[in-house]
Amino acid sequence: MSASNTNDRQTSELYVLTEVAKALTTSLALPALLEAVMERIAEVLAPAEFGVVLLWDPSTGLFRPQAVYGPTFPNLQALRQLSLQEGESVTGKVHTRGETIVLSNEMAIAEFMGDLRPANRAAWNQALDVDMLPRSILAGPLWAGGHKFGVLILGTIQRKKVFSANDIPFVQTLADLIALAIDRARLEAEALASYEAKQADRLRAEALATLSHELRTPLGAIKGYSTALLLDEVAWSTEKRREFLHLIEEECENLETMIGDLLDSSLIDAGQLTLEYQPVRLERLAHEVADEMQRQSNQHTIVLDFPGAFPIIDADPLRLKQVLRNIVHNAIKYAPNGGLVMIRGQVRPTDIVISIADQGIGISPEDLIPLFEKYFRVKSPAGHRVPGTGLGLPVARTIVEAHQGRIWAESKVGKGTTLYFSLPRQGLSADLERDNE
Ligand code: ADP
Repeated sequence: MSASNTNDRQTSELYVLTEVAKALTTSLALPALLEAVMERIAEVLAPAEFGVVLLWDPSTGLFRPQAVYGPTFPNLQALRQLSLQEGESVTGKVHTRGETIVLSNEMAIAEFMGDLRPANRAAWNQALDVDMLPRSILAGPLWAGGHKFGVLILGTIQRKKVFSANDIPFVQTLADLIALAIDRARLEAEALASYEAKQADRLRAEALATLSHELRTPLGAIKGYSTALLLDEVAWSTEKRREFLHLIEEECENLETMIGDLLDSSLIDAGQLTLEYQPVRLERLAHEVADEMQRQSNQHTIVLDFPGAFPIIDADPLRLKQVLRNIVHNAIKYAPNGGLVMIRGQVRPTDIVISIADQGIGISPEDLIPLFEKYFRVKSPAGHRVPGTGLGLPVARTIVEAHQGRIWAESKVGKGTTLYFSLPRQGLSADLERDNE
């Protein structure tokens, strides 16, 4: 190589290194960044016809391509199908050894690539449109911060010019820069995950604080009324005593519901929701829940509307009763002025839909989005004084989804809310029903 050639080469290498370093400080996502970097490399390393960055995925124990380069190959994307094992081909070996290598003769290439598994060989042939191994290869390990991330591979197929040992320092520097970028992306992802975990902890702590407060409210009322009843110096009328006792009973029911929600939710969290399937008549369950709830409120009128011959479905009746109870209870709680609560059953070809409509305070469109999230409670002045845990609907959703169903809501602020849930009709009971028809 003449002195002027060497100088030219050094200048362009320096130029590319600067450009690559610049690219690595941008906020591009990793695959786009790697592709941009590879294009720059090919500008200097004249023989390079294709390039690929393969990253090690510890969860699968495989190297997978993250970026591919090769403007003259129409089927290049087939390279993305590569999935190499530890020690397999150039990638596996360079990753283990940790040093940049140049392979520029047939024998060396065959030695490194001879163990390429058939599926990888096929992807290779398809991508580069040849049934032959490359003429020369330059491969550098991507190591940084004590981590081994993968390998950068550059290759030539048709060109006469091949890589030489002179190319090694340049490629090693580039590989180090790329590894640093990958390490940075990894650290950023870790920082984000730790931030999110902290955020989740904070939300949980906030939810628990709110919950304790919610549990204290009925408890405080119970304590207040019972202390009043026990006062020796006041002679309460029978009517007043009954009123206090009723209020105590009501607050006990509130407490019971909240503690029930909490227990259900923690059982579900512990993965202990088990369903005991049996043929279920939903309109019968709905009647039982409606009667139960009607006893709690004389301001509301609970009405049922089920078509005759409503299908029998396979489900867990106790769990579905809980779903109905949670939703109908809300329909009463969040309609403080009373009104109609309509429980309707609808039959569709593959499923049934139950809807519970109230004439209550309603829910705004933005609050409908997190409605089924744990501990979510609408922060509205209208719903402010209503006791609750924000667990009734998430529990209902888990139960419905465990039955392969769906749950959703529609609402208009000030007009009312309708909660829907669907359950599939297929299964043993549906077959029995068909046989009986
Ligand atoms: P909670 O124990 O707070 O009632 P849920 O999970 O059952 O918990 O409901 C979550 C929130 O959704 C409630 O706090 C309330 O703000 C809103 N919500 C649920 N059902 C209704 C309804 N029928 N009408 C108006 N708001 C409702």
